[in-house]
Amino acid sequence: MKSSEALFARAVKVLPGGVNSPVRACGNVGMTPRFIARAKGAHLWDVECRRYIDYVGSWGPMILGHDFPEVTEAVQAAVKNGLSFGAPCEAEVRMAELMCALVPGLEMVRMVSSGTEAVMSALRVARGATGRSKIIKFAGNYHGHCDAMLVKAGSGALTGGRPDSLGVTPGAAGDTLTANYNDLESVRSLLSAHPGEVAAIIVEPVAANMGVVPPEPGFLEGLRRLCDESGALLIFDEVITGFRLALGGAQEFFGVRADLVTFGKIIGGGMPVGAYGGKRALMELVAPCGGVYQAGTLSGNPVAMAAGLAQLRHLRDHAELYDELSKRGAYLAQCLRVLGERTQVPVQVNQIGSLLTVFFTEAPVTNFQGACASDLDRFGRWYRGLLERGIYTAPSQFEALFLSAAHTEEDFSRTLEAAEETLRQLRR
Ligand SMILES: *Cc1c(COP(=O)(O)O)cnc(C)c1O
Repeated sequence: MKSSEALFARAVKVLPGGVNSPVRACGNVGMTPRFIARAKGAHLWDVECRRYIDYVGSWGPMILGHDFPEVTEAVQAAVKNGLSFGAPCEAEVRMAELMCALVPGLEMVRMVSSGTEAVMSALRVARGATGRSKIIKFAGNYHGHCDAMLVKAGSGALTGGRPDSLGVTPGAAGDTLTANYNDLESVRSLLSAHPGEVAAIIVEPVAANMGVVPPEPGFLEGLRRLCDESGALLIFDEVITGFRLALGGAQEFFGVRADLVTFGKIIGGGMPVGAYGGKRALMELVAPCGGVYQAGTLSGNPVAMAAGLAQLRHLRDHAELYDELSKRGAYLAQCLRVLGERTQVPVQVNQIGSLLTVFFTEAPVTNFQGACASDLDRFGRWYRGLLERGIYTAPSQFEALFLSAAHTEEDFSRTLEAAEETLRQLRR
């Protein structure tokens, strides 16, 4: 029989760290990764046929669960007509029309193949539109791996202890300024130190790559105001929050408008898709309309579009899902807080909608510093305790748990049982 150990032993010889994306390697939680053979609904099976309740959901895309019939059927139908044309297809028009209909302020989008590409391109548009160079980002926010964004980055960069990557030249990173999340004063002082130089402020409207850290009331509104005053553009990186917090993403959820929005994850339904968009006047700067160059051989790929379109249509037609997911998120978070008290393990459970993180610290976590105060040794034991009990979560403190519409009450009660047993072990 196949085993994860044996596959990983082969993998490390031919893939750096045995993986194609760092955080999957599980080194920081003292483990080697499980190799997944298949997935259905809210469950995963590894190559040894062990079943897990999945709270990673491919890091966000699988909001309807795995092998969701409408998505799978749409992909199967598209595959028969050809995998890629490198020419326009109807699905990409429908996809763009649907996104523009659902997302506030979105008048045009450009499809790309990853969240990284979406961010990289949106930054280029912002610089092209303003004629300015500098970008403000927030410590612990992750925006993919383009050079300029690998400065105090979250997610795998943070997990691996390299929030600033090797191989990024001072030139590439020199125009990136870093502010503190939930701290408008830190943004204001950067803006006044660089008058007329800041092209954009880019933010995860809900930080989810240093663990989940929701914006404090007034933070996003404040960013909007600072952008209006300074002439910088506001970019919401909605690669996680888009179509997850609400159909219209964080803009709808918080009632704050961004100038440019980036997407990924959910919009591909599990296929490699990203997108960026905004007002027509900005997006018409993109080639071939305008002078901001950006292109992609597989962009708007018909199979990927079919998957994303099927998922977005289902979400549009069942928008009540968002309330339901939010209720379940709040329920799970509250139960975990109670278990923390009952077992006397200090936990902070940050939750918003279907996103949730358990931090092991006494103090509320509202920014990067707070997230870094979490007890990582405890986190490692928590992760391993859950996994042993069939609960599959992200192998890093600095990530979210993703709920899907496929999780059932039974999944939750098994999860909470496993959580309680694990917390009792952590106390010792
Ligand atoms: C995942 C993520 C990205 C990068 O997307 P990829 O598809 O992994 O390149 C960018 N921004 C945020 C907020 C993300 O969570």
